[in-house]
Amino acid sequence: MSSGAIDRTEVVDVLSDLVRIPSVNPHMGSGTGEGAIARYLTDRLRGLGLTPSVTEVQAGRPNVLATVTGKPGEQHILFEAHTDTVPPSHGQADPFTPRLEGDRLYGRGSCDTKASIAAMFMALRSVLPLRERGATISVAFTMGEELGHEGAGHLAASGFRPDAAVVGEPTSLDVVSTHKGIARWRMAATGRSAHSSNPEQGCNAIVKMATVIRALEERLIPRLRQGTHPLLGPPTLSVGRIEGGLQVNVVPDRCSIEVDRRLLPGESWAIVQGELETALAPLRAEDPDLQVVIEEPYQLFGSMQTPADAPIVRLAREAVRRIDGEHPVRGVAFCTDAAELSRAGIPCVVLGPGDIAQAHTSAECVEVQQVMKAAAIYREMMLAA
Ligand SMILES: [Zn+2]
Repeated sequence: MSSGAIDRTEVVDVLSDLVRIPSVNPHMGSGTGEGAIARYLTDRLRGLGLTPSVTEVQAGRPNVLATVTGKPGEQHILFEAHTDTVPPSHGQADPFTPRLEGDRLYGRGSCDTKASIAAMFMALRSVLPLRERGATISVAFTMGEELGHEGAGHLAASGFRPDAAVVGEPTSLDVVSTHKGIARWRMAATGRSAHSSNPEQGCNAIVKMATVIRALEERLIPRLRQGTHPLLGPPTLSVGRIEGGLQVNVVPDRCSIEVDRRLLPGESWAIVQGELETALAPLRAEDPDLQVVIEEPYQLFGSMQTPADAPIVRLAREAVRRIDGEHPVRGVAFCTDAAELSRAGIPCVVLGPGDIAQAHTSAECVEVQQVMKAAAIYREMMLAA
């Protein structure tokens, strides 16, 4: 492995520092936010002689961005990773005390996605003194990914336009060139309340919603399974929450569900709405009492798709091959900050150390060897771009 420039002890030190600084998304549980970790990263970047810009996207929740200018006419590549984490899991002992067991480093955020941050930092540090460096390199450590990509969205909205971006998320060092988007919305059925001793005088919204759910399961989902994408498979739909009724002796006049739909590239909310209406049309025809409203989505994140022959995909693939042999270029079902960057026209790949199956779990960990390889891969990309 040609990662001689990446030192294991230093990788472990930086990653341990990052895990030790809680950066739980403040909109999840009792998170304290990204302020402290942004200060740490700003200090470390200043220590390299850089002048990072710190932008408060929300109060106390900054993005950190640093740029190293390359030779004129060369490309500008962004390395981006989010600083926020999900809260500790139930029963996760000492989530912010990094623990090294064999080659694995445990702790909240170790895998998702402080490993990518550590690898990007180490890669940047290793290339700074080199004369052969040509590309302009930016690193962005952004807030608020876990609940809405706010940091990456803010960066894209600021007009910042590198030629391409590498988004650090746990991909086990595979190059991810496409991922699904997400739409989440509520559907509400309305009925008429009555005393439960005379249920025929009411209209039971829970029962109405049950027919809606059955229509989604039996009519819509089988149709979704037929539309497929070579790297992503079919789109999916999942009913994740249901709420209805006041108490047992009242016929409920309202029932609502929350639905999660994973979008393929090219799918929009308008398409989803159309499918829902098609699935509900027979119900509406059969039951004139059915009153169900499809609300506008409260979360809508785009998919990401970069062509397989795009320069950033080739650059990433070649760097991975040199450091760790052949890895597949693949698609993933989870959504990332790359959705915001690619929507702004920046071609992206998602590439980072760690296994996504580890993310958000009580035993979250990452293999240090993979973090070192990721740093070496980022370094190769920084030098070859
Ligand atoms: Zn993540």
